[in-house]
Amino acid sequence: MPSNAFQFSPADAAAFSRKVARISGQNIQECYQCRRCTAGCPAVQDEGNFSPDMLIRLVNLGDINAAINNEMVWKCVTCYTCGTRCPNNIHTSRIADTLKKMVKESGVEPLKPNIAYFHSSFLESGVRWGRVNEAEFMGVYEMKNILHLVKQKKFKEIYDEIIQLSKFVWRVLKQGRMHFGFLTSKGHKEIKRLKRQHQTSNKV
Ligand code: SF4
Ligand code: SF4
Repeated sequence: MPSNAFQFSPADAAAFSRKVARISGQNIQECYQCRRCTAGCPAVQDEGNFSPDMLIRLVNLGDINAAINNEMVWKCVTCYTCGTRCPNNIHTSRIADTLKKMVKESGVEPLKPNIAYFHSSFLESGVRWGRVNEAEFMGVYEMKNILHLVKQKKFKEIYDEIIQLSKFVWRVLKQGRMHFGFLTSKGHKEIKRLKRQHQTSNKV
């Protein structure tokens, strides 16, 4: 059973919350836990132990381990509802993205590896081509996901994943919804430059 207890870490609180605030560009210290964000968040589930206000509280308390392992980081669908409802204009999706980045750069195993692979494959494809090419993106994602399952010797999950993927591909092919070309957008070099610039200025 997940614990609801928050761990206050005086040694980490100020530095960690300042770092997350700087990288995400969100004034998280201004959060006063009114929970308006949570009331509108589509990712929050009754049985879950996560919500936008909880994620912000964990960061402000310096509970690094609980923050980077919070399901909100991986289940946020970037709908921006929380930010539009928040009286302090705090966008939790940007905080979730910052924590994803911290997990990736620290090399720790993400709480939801498949979501992490989906996220990184989508971004890499977008940066490479200036747009996402579905077949390439899906192929890279599935390769990362299946390799991870092979390393863990989860053969039943591999079988299920392949069956599910085959059904999905068959369905989208029948509907003519998947294209196999490699299209490049006009601004792809600019996107690469912006990514490099972002990486340099936001080293975690
Ligand atoms: S709506 Fe804003 S101030 Fe209220 S809990 Fe959410 S982030 Fe904090
Ligand atoms: S952006 Fe993320 S955290 Fe905010 S309401 Fe949407 S799903 Fe919830």
